[in-house]
Amino acid sequence: MTRHKTFVFSAPGEAGIAEDRATLADLPEWDLADLYPGRESAELEAGFDQAESAAKAFEARFEGKVGDIDGAAFGAAIIEYEAQEEILGRIMSYAFLVYAGNQSDPELAKFYQGAQERCTDISTRLIFFTLEINRMDEAALAEKMAVPAAAHYAPWVRDVRAFRDHQLSDEMEKILHEKMVAGRTAWVRLFDETMADLRFPFQSGTGEHESLTESEILHKLSDKDGAVRRQAGLSLGRVLGENIRQFALITNTLAKDKEIDDRWRRYAQPVSYRNLSNQVEDQVVEALRGAVTLAYPDLSHRYYALKSRWFGVEALDFWDRNAPLPQDDNRVIPWAEARKTVLDAYGDFSPELATIGQRFFDSPWIDVPPRPGKASGAFAHPTVPSAHPYLLLNYQGRVRDVMTLAHELGHGVHQVLAGPQGALMSDTPLTLAETASVFGEMLTFRALLKAEDDPARRRVMLAGKVEDMLNTVVRQISMFDFECRVHDERRSGELTAERLGDIWLET
Ligand SMILES: [Zn+2]
Repeated sequence: MTRHKTFVFSAPGEAGIAEDRATLADLPEWDLADLYPGRESAELEAGFDQAESAAKAFEARFEGKVGDIDGAAFGAAIIEYEAQEEILGRIMSYAFLVYAGNQSDPELAKFYQGAQERCTDISTRLIFFTLEINRMDEAALAEKMAVPAAAHYAPWVRDVRAFRDHQLSDEMEKILHEKMVAGRTAWVRLFDETMADLRFPFQSGTGEHESLTESEILHKLSDKDGAVRRQAGLSLGRVLGENIRQFALITNTLAKDKEIDDRWRRYAQPVSYRNLSNQVEDQVVEALRGAVTLAYPDLSHRYYALKSRWFGVEALDFWDRNAPLPQDDNRVIPWAEARKTVLDAYGDFSPELATIGQRFFDSPWIDVPPRPGKASGAFAHPTVPSAHPYLLLNYQGRVRDVMTLAHELGHGVHQVLAGPQGALMSDTPLTLAETASVFGEMLTFRALLKAEDDPARRRVMLAGKVEDMLNTVVRQISMFDFECRVHDERRSGELTAERLGDIWLET
């Protein structure tokens, strides 16, 4: 199926909350009115109506006939299909972003689920189009694609056809599509809402008992004070442990759901669907996994041995993996400074990058502060070409938070520049998407390093960069290994929470 958008999450957990709340007062929040004026707005209702009547008309005109129409009509049909993707994409982007802003609010959750259900009903009517494109033989397709209106969409048609060998009958595709809202997406929602509702007990330096969100407790793991990190790490483990049966059930259910799908669709391995979507061959990913795994001793093992020595211990405790070096000044970077740092770094490389980046702050297209119930981590969501991307952050004033801004803004600028490709072709596979973001991060880091001449501070910064890169490369490959093993083992039955924990520790 082709209905998925790349919006790119960074793992929560390395981002930073500040003791110095004054420095972080008045952080901007996004304004979603560029998508729709509100949940109850006439514009949103009109969007649903328009999508529904257009889908019905499209279905009546083309279902069962896509193979028979000529090239010009085929090109015109793709243009119409794209227009419908644009409306549905706008509605779902809006619903998702509203919900991401507060996953603990039952009203917003109901709104998100309702939008998903209505959009699924509507899009079920459109599924036939790509299924019929995939049933055409090469010669018939080539004849249609020779017409300019269709030729324009050649990359999209190629990407749709990549899933040819894995598609099922029209009826099965329809029922699987409809079932998703009561299956996989519901389980993901259960996980997100459970995480958003968790509170982690923490006793502050002045003896006050606090009840922190996931973002806030994770931020304590990069506190300068070792006792704070220890208390945060233990609280994190305890609260997650209290919910372990539910998380194990969610993991097992999602893995089983995927196994059923993969079996019917004849994917060779659990990773095959993902690789096909990312337009990368299984062997290429294997080569990457092999190379990074071989380099563990030389990269992460050597670095953390060094870090242990700096902390004067045999081995680091798990809560100290991302601890700042003892020389870190624990400074809270105000938002205005973060913004200037990133935009200046972008501008030194290319004024056009900075000009586009600036628009994210002017409007504002960025949701900056952590809030109870808000999605943790960070992401850039492209929405649709007729609107613009939005960024979600949980900014807490650490250097790492500035890097996260640089990273997500890289995605955002890329998404703006890709917009003119249109709703069907502006999306990129993850393999390409991470290029712009990591590049933006490196530009910003190099600018920060250049501006610093105190050797001790430079060392702290370099250590932070090494850790970010270990998290980007080594940690991601470890998580990939973990997922591969869980999916493999799930094929022969459920995994207990203990077994999941064992695989986690081994990888
Ligand atoms: Zn990214």
